Amino acid sequence: MLRIDTISKTYRMLDVETRALDGVSLAVGSGEFVAIMGPSGCGKSTLLNIVGMLDQADAGRYEFGGHDVTGASQSRMTALRRASIGFVFQDFNLIDDLTVEENVQLALTYRRVRMGERRRRTRQILEEVGIAHRAGHLPNRLSGGQQQRVAIARALVGKPSLILADEPTGNLDTVNGDAVMVLLADAVRRGSTVLMVTHSLAYAAFAQRTVKMLDGRIVSETLMAA
Ligand code: ADP
Ligand code: MG
Repeated sequence: MLRIDTISKTYRMLDVETRALDGVSLAVGSGEFVAIMGPSGCGKSTLLNIVGMLDQADAGRYEFGGHDVTGASQSRMTALRRASIGFVFQDFNLIDDLTVEENVQLALTYRRVRMGERRRRTRQILEEVGIAHRAGHLPNRLSGGQQQRVAIARALVGKPSLILADEPTGNLDTVNGDAVMVLLADAVRRGSTVLMVTHSLAYAAFAQRTVKMLDGRIVSETLMAA
């Protein structure tokens, strides 16, 4: 699915330099569910953003779906991202003035799916995540748990090969957090690959492998017993 090889990333702000990633290598196979853990500031989001082609590393190699995408152009990364990657964030990141249905449909508009098909697939995925009864609502009328279901629907509707989830349960109570994990585990069962940042050991246990980070490096990898 993807392979990064000794990537580094330094952020420069005024006279302050932060080495967010310091020689990180990671390979993720198709259909794998990998959890990433580590203290705040250790580079987890930076890693996810680079894997998701929202950002680029300063050094190292990145191979996605068998293609070398190291130093790829903005337009190539955008095209690959829209075709192959779905994102779920801690704070949901829905568009406030679009309805639930419109938020999800937008992901298909980017993929140039036709109107009728867009409506059909959106309806279906909203049913699957249990939020179809809120299709016409604006996101701010929904609870956090409901908003995250919409975000998951948006991530899944385009049938991406890779789902990146950055602390997807971070703003949710246990009941809603558990529900989000069930949806992600279902996606893996249907063939998606998931890379998820979490602070919860219980949720990391849903994954087949846990990668631990510290100070911009991967310090350990643990395989879960089957
Ligand atoms: P995590 O997700 O593990 O909490 P991040 O990847 O967000 O960590 O951040 C890693 C380090 O890089 C932190 O020290 C953070 O302050 C810094 N950092 C992240 N993004 C930026 C940015 N856009 N500009 C400057 N520094 C950043
Ligand atoms: Mg983070």
